[in-house]
Amino acid sequence: MTRNNLTARPGTVYLVGAGPGDPKLLTIAGLEALRRAEVLVFDALANPVLLDLAPPRALRIDAGKRAKQHTLTQDQTQQLLAEHALAGRTVVRLKGGDPYVFGRGSEEAIYLHERGVPVVVIPGITAAIAAPAYAGIPVTHRQIATTCTLVTGHEDPTKDEGQVEFGPLAQLAKRGGTLCFYMGMSRLNAIAAGLMGEGLSGDTPAAVIQWGTRDKQRCVRGSLSRLHDKATAGGLGAPAIIIVGQVAGIDDAALNWFMRRPLFGRTIVVTRTRQQASELRERLEALGAHVIETPTIALEQPTSEQWAGVLDAVRNVRDYAWLILTSINGVEGLRRALAELKVDARALAGVKIAAIGEATAAAMREQLGIKADLVPTAFVAESLAGELLAQHDLKGQRVLMLRADIARPALVELLTKAGAMVEDRTIYRTVVPPPEGVSDELMEAMTNRRVDWITFTSSSTAKNLVEMLGPRKNWLTGVKTASIGPITSATLRELGLDVTMEAERHDMDGLVAGLLKAVEGGGN
Ligand code: SAH
Repeated sequence: MTRNNLTARPGTVYLVGAGPGDPKLLTIAGLEALRRAEVLVFDALANPVLLDLAPPRALRIDAGKRAKQHTLTQDQTQQLLAEHALAGRTVVRLKGGDPYVFGRGSEEAIYLHERGVPVVVIPGITAAIAAPAYAGIPVTHRQIATTCTLVTGHEDPTKDEGQVEFGPLAQLAKRGGTLCFYMGMSRLNAIAAGLMGEGLSGDTPAAVIQWGTRDKQRCVRGSLSRLHDKATAGGLGAPAIIIVGQVAGIDDAALNWFMRRPLFGRTIVVTRTRQQASELRERLEALGAHVIETPTIALEQPTSEQWAGVLDAVRNVRDYAWLILTSINGVEGLRRALAELKVDARALAGVKIAAIGEATAAAMREQLGIKADLVPTAFVAESLAGELLAQHDLKGQRVLMLRADIARPALVELLTKAGAMVEDRTIYRTVVPPPEGVSDELMEAMTNRRVDWITFTSSSTAKNLVEMLGPRKNWLTGVKTASIGPITSATLRELGLDVTMEAERHDMDGLVAGLLKAVEGGGN
């Protein structure tokens, strides 16, 4: 370390509990710390989605510790935290669950304090509380469980194997209540046998919950005497919480809300086009699905000839009565054109502006400080044309449209029919992403045949995905397809794919409703 580093005022280390896995179970304090992080040191159990909450420039360090395959030793991790903080950086130490519950958070805090590094501790929701809650098991219950004990089933791996538990297990067997074992899967048999040996009935209800609160959560319930066999038969392993106690016997539909959601356990691929995808993703996730998004359209700058056309039109924008923008990308393009012409939004004074979609109108306001004169209530070309023509006579008027090269011709046709003179200029191009655009997550899910459904919201998403997959197209055989409507379905069939479900209403609602019906009705 240089002298400079030593004299700098130390940065703070935030010991942040990442929560049990569902990224939305992070606290607001944790989120704020992540957003300020200059260095982020994380655990194997922290959901990778959370890493994206830190600024892109933050240094990310994987300290991922899973029993026996240490990436960094505890000493190395602590040294690393101190070094970065002493160099004046804000450090977030993100730990699965809660930092102090079997997380060695206190050791890290003491080490840092001794070296003059300020520490802030932000608790997280611990696995033994969250995993049962997402599996329909309340850890306490007024009538049947008035204590809840958090136990390590593993203890310090450097200690002698035999030393671990029989003392504590005797006390636990007597105490009863709810017992929650962390890190116990490799010793499940010994734990159950030990508890029964100390007098706890083999009939005591018990459960194992793996990957609690994640969309791949799995839960097995059984009596204490049968739990090990059942968990083994079900293929459950670490990371899992073992629950022993009467609460594990409560089987109430009202409590098991998470795993009973209609799409729980299904992996659905959403082919992405611009804004629509995240909406579909959120809706499907809320219904319990594991969603993998894959981009099927990439945006590129227009050709130099197309761009010259845009500049020409924008330079003479006062010759037009209306300017129509159909997307955020169009607004960005317009901003670039104004900058290149060395003018600003005042150059657009006098021309009326229509924006398709709230997002486009918002971008106009934020990027250009302009309020659109017309924002049609529905997104489709037909309704824009309808509303525009209902309010304004466009006969003989010049209309400038700045949009994508693949935009549908309907709008131009309708306005032209009403007597307008429409110029449609390409302000950005859409292209098929390269084969490398298929994400690792999708590759992995496809090769392991874990994809249940794939959704298509347009013909181009279908064509482009097949092109991106190339020879890997055969992955799609056997995957169920959900199509938004007949045009997309026809394209899918042309591409040699079956259509499992076609939406009755050809929009997002229709697609989601169709999927639900297919899953619930047909056991898909
Ligand atoms: N600090 C963490 C616990 C770390 S010890 C917390 O508060 O949750 C690691 C153990 O936590 C795992 O072996 C497993 O028993 C448990 N665990 C962590 N995340 C889990 C999850 N999503 N589902 C079930 N168990 C989990």
